[in-house]
Amino acid sequence: MAFLELQRLSKRFGDVVAVDGLDLSVEQGEFVSLLGPSGCGKTTTLQMIAGFEDPTGGEIRIAGRDMANVRANRRGIGIVFQSYALFPHMTVEQNVGFGLEMRKVPAGERAGRVAEALELVRLGGLAGRYPRALSGGQQQRVALARALVIKPDLLLLDEPLSNLDAKLREEMQIELRNIQQSTGVTTVLVTHDQTEAMALSDRIAVMHRGHIVQISTPFEAYEFPKSDFVSTFLGKTNLVAAAVEGRDGDMLRLRAGDVALKAPAGEGAEGDRVLLSIRPEKIRFADPAEAVIRGHVKTGVFLGNQWLFQIDSPLGELLVVHQNAGRAEARAGEEVGLAWEGDQVRVLSGDDHG
Ligand code: ATP
Repeated sequence: MAFLELQRLSKRFGDVVAVDGLDLSVEQGEFVSLLGPSGCGKTTTLQMIAGFEDPTGGEIRIAGRDMANVRANRRGIGIVFQSYALFPHMTVEQNVGFGLEMRKVPAGERAGRVAEALELVRLGGLAGRYPRALSGGQQQRVALARALVIKPDLLLLDEPLSNLDAKLREEMQIELRNIQQSTGVTTVLVTHDQTEAMALSDRIAVMHRGHIVQISTPFEAYEFPKSDFVSTFLGKTNLVAAAVEGRDGDMLRLRAGDVALKAPAGEGAEGDRVLLSIRPEKIRFADPAEAVIRGHVKTGVFLGNQWLFQIDSPLGELLVVHQNAGRAEARAGEEVGLAWEGDQVRVLSGDDHG
């Protein structure tokens, strides 16, 4: 049995179904992110695991034990919130030691464990400061130390990095991942930031309307999204409506308007209308002999590490194409050929409820 098990977990607030029969298993030591848009039920799920909200239905098990009648402070859980929620009138040391004091850990042992937790988050020198004299990033580390000092069996993180600026957030992502790996604590992160989920997680659970529509490694989720929802939520993609014409071995033959396309067989039988996903970085400029389609460049924008082109194409929508940085291979108004490998096209089920 997995370390954390959620079975058919539900939560209603009056008429609103916030969490709708959600199943999730998290292995010991694993880092899993709940990723989804605002209102999909991520925070409510985390609050139920923590014991701050009672489920309307379903079960939560931690290490095999049913949590139905276990109070929040008895669940062995450390939590970090977006707001940090530090006590303003307490020093860093007192903030971090608070949970140990509540658990009646003797003062001598407490001091050692607080020092250890502060070292872990690299705040050793700031034990005597008050929160108001700390930067946002430092406050965030105090909150993390406070959650870790109790040596929790499970660490819950609710958008812990979203108050930090982009550069600091990136640094903290790497640090958080290192700390999680060095402590081995089973972790569930709530985020709406796909880059953050990808950088931190062993597996990502993509949520939509109260349940999980896909759970997989970051690579699988990005490369093999099951639905248009997952495909567009995890990065940019081009969605193309097509009809299945037949099958040649492992590949489907498809048609989108006048354009013949190929995609790996899996979903879709002859006559079906399907949605295809083609990631912008899989498309390249190509000479006429090689091109799958021709189009006109509408815009080309240089972003430093890559070029981003929008192309008027016979596939309907404006096609987005990313190219590695270097000299621009095309200019606005120019007619270009575009090519991609058929095995890079994904056929989506289009079913959000996966
Ligand atoms: P966000 O990223 O904006 O925090 P979320 O995915 O965490 O969103 P939740 O906060 O879990 O989503 O909310 C899920 C749904 O439940 C939303 O429609 C929200 O309005 C509703 N909801 C959450 N808490 C309550 C509450 N205490 N009373 C009534 N409705 C609630």
